[in-house]
Amino acid sequence: MYPHYFDNAATTRVAQEAKEAAVLAMTDCYGNASSLHRAGADAEDILLQARRQAAKALGCLVEEVYFTSGATESINIAIRGAAKKARGKRTILTTQIEHPAVKNTIDDLEKEGFVIKRIAIGKDGRYHPEDFKQAADDDTFLLSCMWVNNETGVSLPVEEIAAAVKRKSPSSLVMIDGVQGFCKLPMVSLTSIDIFCFSGHKIHAPKGVGGLYLKKGVSLPPLCFGGGQEKGLRPGTESIPLISALGEAIALTNGKRQEHFTRYQAMHRFLSEQLQNIPEVTVHLFPESVPYIFHFSIADLRSEIMLHHLEECGYYISSGSACSKGVPSDVLPNLGLSREEADGAIRVSFSIYNTMEELPLFIKALREGIARYGKRSAAPERRRNRLKRSEPQGF
Ligand code: PLP
Repeated sequence: MYPHYFDNAATTRVAQEAKEAAVLAMTDCYGNASSLHRAGADAEDILLQARRQAAKALGCLVEEVYFTSGATESINIAIRGAAKKARGKRTILTTQIEHPAVKNTIDDLEKEGFVIKRIAIGKDGRYHPEDFKQAADDDTFLLSCMWVNNETGVSLPVEEIAAAVKRKSPSSLVMIDGVQGFCKLPMVSLTSIDIFCFSGHKIHAPKGVGGLYLKKGVSLPPLCFGGGQEKGLRPGTESIPLISALGEAIALTNGKRQEHFTRYQAMHRFLSEQLQNIPEVTVHLFPESVPYIFHFSIADLRSEIMLHHLEECGYYISSGSACSKGVPSDVLPNLGLSREEADGAIRVSFSIYNTMEELPLFIKALREGIARYGKRSAAPERRRNRLKRSEPQGF
């Protein structure tokens, strides 16, 4: 076990409840859910239970839940499936700050000739549904938009964006990458959303499992062909251990969502207050950001240096998105951060297992790192500007 794990936007520790469910399905109930005997029926029961748990958290029908190997697969099923059935339409709407699972899938379609409109964040640091509505037209067949940005915690008003696009272009499919909000924020209404993708390993299930909501009556062509599992959308023998663990993790995190959220808010407040007293630190409080992802930069100190210093002190943080290891991400410049701020950017992300008690010594370790490795203080003017732009948090 790692002493102080603050990199939960990258992945989380598997919950005991999820682990026990997986072990039971591997050792006792190991049948194939398609088999006609008792072992098969037991596996099918476990599958149904997990589907019910996911449907409850999503606020949808049980038959609208499909399990996959994770959000990357769900996203590919959604975007490539939508492109396959675009019937001559060519335009996809998305944002400039998507996770690589969305960005790279869409970039690949662009090479095939699809037209991509990437909406930018407004000057006020917010995404505006009106900008999406204006960009939508008769040629649009898909909106693909993230709910919460994994690098910064910026959250987008996806309900309103989805409704705005549907009003202008009713036949477009709306897909939301819900990975960083699912079971952490109150679930959005699915009224204008056709597809909602989620991942297990961000919410204390093991890696390699996730799913998607697909609205009843909406169909997608599959990317793979096989035995017809998951109504043919995602064929292949279901991983009952992983799916069962996912169901338990969903029940665990969603069940106490409000309680965890209140704790994240207090922890976020504490970090903001403490870090604003350190002149070298610029806290990036975007107007709409979630309290379980905290983002800041240290002037003239590359984030990797601080990352390894903090690791020596027992704190595991991220220098950005774990998915873009080694490759500089476009997201921070697209959100208005300078290249230097991006180079010194640090992300701290909490899970249900983090507590306030872990934070004072984290601040101490950070101060020590700055004293040891930092070159000079940030220009006070720049720091003030950034903080002025910040407003009270939406969540
Ligand atoms: N979308 C977002 C916003 C993410 O943060 C991630 C994972 O980091 C993914 C998609 C991909 O999820 P998975 O690792 O389950 O494929």
